[in-house]
This record gives sequence, structure tokens and C-alpha cells, in this order.
Amino acid sequence: MHVFEKNTNIFHLLSEAVTEGILVVDEQQRIVSINGKAAALFGYIKKELMQKSLSLLIPDHFTEAHKSHVKHFLCNKREDGELKANCTLGKRKAGDTFPLELTFHPFQVYGKNYVLALIQDKSETEEIIQNLHLKEDALDATLNGITITDASKKGHPIVYVNKAFINLTGYNESEILDRNCTFLQKNKTHDKGFRVMLKAMALGKKCRVQVKNVKKDGTAFWNEVSINPIKNKKGEITHYVGVHNDISHKKKAEEEIRHFLKIFEDSLNEIFVFDANSLCFTHANYGAIKNTGYSLKMLKKLKITDLFVNGFEKQLRDKLDLILDSSQRKLVFETRIQRKNGSIYPVEVHLQTSSLHSTKVVVAMVLDISERKNYTEELERKVKDRTKELKSSLEKEKELSELKTKFLSMVSHEFKTPLSTILTSATLVSKYTEKEQQEKREKHLKTISAGVQRLTDILNDFLSIERIEKGKQFYNCTRFSLSKVVNEVLYNANMFLKTGQNIKYPMHIEDVSIYQDERIVSLILTNLIHNAIKYSPENTNIILKITIQEKTMQMRVIDSGLGIPEKDQKHIFDRYFRADNVLLTQGTGIGLNIVHSHVTKLGGNISFKSVENKGTEFTVELPISQREIVSV
Ligand code: ADP
Repeated sequence: MHVFEKNTNIFHLLSEAVTEGILVVDEQQRIVSINGKAAALFGYIKKELMQKSLSLLIPDHFTEAHKSHVKHFLCNKREDGELKANCTLGKRKAGDTFPLELTFHPFQVYGKNYVLALIQDKSETEEIIQNLHLKEDALDATLNGITITDASKKGHPIVYVNKAFINLTGYNESEILDRNCTFLQKNKTHDKGFRVMLKAMALGKKCRVQVKNVKKDGTAFWNEVSINPIKNKKGEITHYVGVHNDISHKKKAEEEIRHFLKIFEDSLNEIFVFDANSLCFTHANYGAIKNTGYSLKMLKKLKITDLFVNGFEKQLRDKLDLILDSSQRKLVFETRIQRKNGSIYPVEVHLQTSSLHSTKVVVAMVLDISERKNYTEELERKVKDRTKELKSSLEKEKELSELKTKFLSMVSHEFKTPLSTILTSATLVSKYTEKEQQEKREKHLKTISAGVQRLTDILNDFLSIERIEKGKQFYNCTRFSLSKVVNEVLYNANMFLKTGQNIKYPMHIEDVSIYQDERIVSLILTNLIHNAIKYSPENTNIILKITIQEKTMQMRVIDSGLGIPEKDQKHIFDRYFRADNVLLTQGTGIGLNIVHSHVTKLGGNISFKSVENKGTEFTVELPISQREIVSV
């Protein structure tokens, strides 16, 4: 004690000059000297601690252990030895504790043992360490891989990696540390990102790149690397901090999106996107641009309705409301689009809404349906034609069946009279057995012949119709004597003449030969002459006039008979038509129809003039030179 009092000035001077806290305890562990720093550390002024037990400065739970520790130390003292105290906390006057480091130095003065304790406040160091631990924990907790490389050393060896980087690469810490930071890079020459990263590092700049790296197990992955240079106070780069992120999933998703975009972009189907409010195009794919002929720039200045031939903006807006308010998911309609070059094509438009940020847009899939339309039109035309054909053959079939029915009723009706006439005459003929009754016999035989001729004519008419109907009417043109045919026709007609009826024979035809179908010329003449006889009263003349020209022949049959009522004249060549004024006379309404058919087919012409109750004149013109009718 005295010693320190004696030398207090020297100790004071020495102890106050150092930055650490210093105190000296005697063998009873009483504080015999203390510097200001030490007293201040514990929150005392120096004199408050003098002669006080050291335990005052030790937290309670350390006190006993510490006492024995110091005692033991004093008993086994070594003059040059030093001892780190096992106590790491000091107790302040206020009762709180703080981290410290105590180093004991024993010494003897005048045979007495003392211990000098050097006290270092570790509060700040502890804080720094804790801080560091916190940051390291934070780095380890982050999901991004982090590396720190030493830029001052050759090859920039890695000096720190966090857990995420270890997890990311599959390498353990010892396999990573001290390696060059490019050890994950497989392709060092063709990787654009890698080249960019090297360039940035060479310039001491930070960068963010995407590089293709390989894990320890050989799996490739996309690494998004951010490199940040760390500089010291002099501005020199000392470290690089790398932040690594596995973006393989993101890349895959991006590639898929790019792929879908490409499908959309390259599609030959026309796809347009337009603003739901303004109806102006915002985008159009390759198919749309190609088919319309507009560039994307031009399209962006147009509304979708500008492409429609009939515009119909109002109608489109009304329809769009249905999909914009979600009452309908999709809108499909047909319209026509006009290309830039003016041509028009039919389309089927499919509209669906989509949102781009806060803007509502409409996606229009436009299908060119020209082919479908053509096909449909062609199909419709074919169906129409086919229906027409069927209708016509049905009508023909119907007509044929009508003809057959008519024929049967005609047979029963038209055949009845001539047949009964024939029967009566035949019966009577058998009764006239006497020689002088020859005249009567001849009269009845003539009636029989006329009846047979009538039946033959009717049958011939029906056969002619059937031939014409079935397209089996063939003409056989030859050169023949006109007078021969006229004679035969008039001779046969004689038997139908009524009393006092007379046929005027044509003049100047004796040496005339014409080129025609003999049978048809005969049929035409027979029909006209028989009608004239039939529809003229007794005691009238029937005149046949024939004019021969170079290429044609004109035959006129003139009678002074019933005539044809004016209202019926337009139907006179229709099949089965019979005028009102002849219904009491036998007939079929077929003859003139057949004559008209043949004359037309042979390139001729038939006409008539008629006045009711005055008479009728039929005129037939026929070609008669081979050159004229060669095509028949
Ligand atoms: P059909 O004499 O067997 O009735 P046609 O076809 O020969 O049939 O004649 C059609 C119709 O034309 C006759 O029913 C008649 O009304 C009218 N017709 C034809 N020739 C004459 C004529 N010379 N005089 C008056 N009417 C005629």
C-alpha cells in the first residue's frame, strides 16, 4: 500500500498515459491503484474504487470463479507470466455489464504480491463482430448465390461464397474458394454474356449478364450474374461481389413465350389486334399484312372497319359491347375485306377481348373464306342445276304419263267412233250381196278405209310424239318428186271430204323435185289438209298453194271454215290444245304440235292467219336444197 502511495505520482503518470484501463490489486484482491480510464470504464471516479474489492467490478455469477482463478494465479505466480481472465464481462456502477478483456500481470514489490490488470473494453469489437455475423447470416439467408473475389490477386480468386451459391452449383465451399470465378463457365468463347462480363470487369465497371453455366453434376443452367466492383478509399478495386441467380425457368418460360409469339407472328392466318375504344389497329401479324397488302405502319393508322367493304362501325360497336361486357365470350361474323389494291375477299371474323395493361384490346382472327364461298356457290349452283334437271325430267315423266293417260282416254274415245263406223260398214257390206249393190258396197268400203286411215293417223301422231320426246326423231333427207307426195296426200284425203268439199291442186309442181325428208313433208301436208277438211263445212273449197324458190318451198293450205278464235290463237301449237269452237269435232290436239316441232327442227317456219267463221290459212316454209339442210 505504501509502496503505491509512495510512488503514486510515477504510477499515475504511467497509467494515465496509456489508452487501456489499468488497475492493481493486492493479495486480498483489493484495488490498490487504478487509472482514470479503468474507473471511467466501470462508471466510477477513481477514489470510489480505491481499497474496494475487485469483485465490485465483476458480475455476480463470475465472482467466485474469478476469485479462485486470481488466487490460484497468485499462488502459482510467475514474474514474467500473464493470464487471460476467464471473466469476459465487467460490471458497471450502474449494474449493467459490458464485454471486456482482462489480462493479469503479477508482480512483487517489497516482498508483496500484486496483480496488475489490463482492461480492454470490447464493447465496440463485439458489436462489429455481431454486425459481421449478422451480415454473413443475411448473405447466407439470401436465395441469390453470392461470391466475393479478391481483385488484388492474380486470377481474382474467390474468397467468399454464401450457402445459396453452394446450393446453386453443387460444389462445397472448399472446392470453390481460391478458384477463378469463371470455373462454372463451359463455353468461354461463344457466350456473349460471358464476353460482356469480362469486358466490364476489365473496365472496372459493374454489369449484369446472362451466362450459360454448368453445375458440378454437369447440368447446364442459365445464370444471371451481377458483378459489382468494390473500391477502397484510394479508389482501387479490391474485390468484386457477384450475385448469381438461376434463371433457367425464367429463360424457358421466355423461350416458350417467344415461340408462341413466333407462331402468332408467322401465322398465315390473319390476326389483328385493335383498340376496343378507337377500333384502331395496334398490331397485325404476317398473314394479315400479306393478305391485305398494308404495312403494319399503314394499318396502325386504320380502324378495323376501314377494311370492311361496308364499314358498319355502328353495328360492330354494338356487337363488341356483347364481348366487352362479357355476356358473350366470342363474336363470329362474315363480311368482306377490301385489300390495299382494291380487290375484295370474303372473310369469317372471330373476335375476342384481351387486356393489355389497363387498355382493352380486341383480337381478330380473320379467315379468308373465298374458297369455301366458291365451293358453296359451286355446290349451290350444282344443286340448282341438278334440281332443274330433276324437275325437268320429272315434268317430262309427268308429261309422258299424262300422254299415256291421254292416249288411253283418247284411244277409248277417238278409236271408238272410227271402230264403230268400221264395224257398221263391215256389217252392212256383208248384207249387200247382189251384183247391182256394188255402189253401196264401195261406199261402205270407203268408209271402212277412212276409219282405218283415221286410226292410223292417230297412232302415227302418238308415235311421232314419243320419238320427238325421247330424242329419237331422225330425219332422212333425200331428193324426191314433190308432185308424187302431194298426189298421195290428196288422194288419201279424198275419203274424208265432206259433201261438196273440193281440194284445189297446186300448180306448176309436176317436174319439181326437192331435197327433204319425204315422210315428214307428207306428214305436214296431211295434217294441214285433214284439219282444213275437218274444220270446214260442206260445199267449201280447200286450196293448196306451193311456191318453189331456189332454197325454200312455201306450202299454203287455205280453207273457208270455222277459223280459230283470236283468244285461242296463241296456244294453237301447244300440245293437246284445242280451240273452244271445235270441241264438238273429233280431234286430239296433237297434230299441229308435231308439225310445229318437225318444221322447227328442219330449219323451217310455220305461221297462220285465221278469222273465226271466215277461214284459216296455214303457211309452212321448208328448206329444200341439200346445202341448206345438210346439218339436220
Ligand atoms: P286436232 O285437229 O286433232 O284437234 P290439231 O293439233 O291438228 O288437233 O289442231 C289443234 C287445234 O287447232 C284444233 O283443235 C283446232 O281448234 C285448231 N285448228 C287447226 N286447224 C284448223 C283449221 N284449219 N280451222 C280451224 N281450226 C283449226
